[in-house]
Amino acid sequence: MRQHGKLEYGGHAAPQRTCVGCRVRTAKSELLRLVLVEDHVVPDLRGRLPGRGASLHPSLNCLELAERRRAFSRAFRVAGSLDVSRVRAHLEEDHEMSCRTPS
Ligand SMILES: [Zn+2]
Repeated sequence: MRQHGKLEYGGHAAPQRTCVGCRVRTAKSELLRLVLVEDHVVPDLRGRLPGRGASLHPSLNCLELAERRRAFSRAFRVAGSLDVSRVRAHLEEDHEMSCRTPS
């Protein structure tokens, strides 16, 4: 029996990650987790894919920064360039959605 399970969800110890694009440290929940599937960087939308991950703000700016700095190659420890088109498509879709949604 655990009496103190609540503590795990307390606000103080929110895990933080560094965005591979702008290098800003942010709460993990605000970053998009990316994983490598073969040569493709893909967004891990449910946080369930195995393997080494990289964190990125869900923003095209940060994606471009990361590409320019070859941050993905470093994060995933591979030589050469990686295909980020699926991440880009995901972010563009998100962006369009937020532009269309009136609120
Ligand atoms: Zn960023």
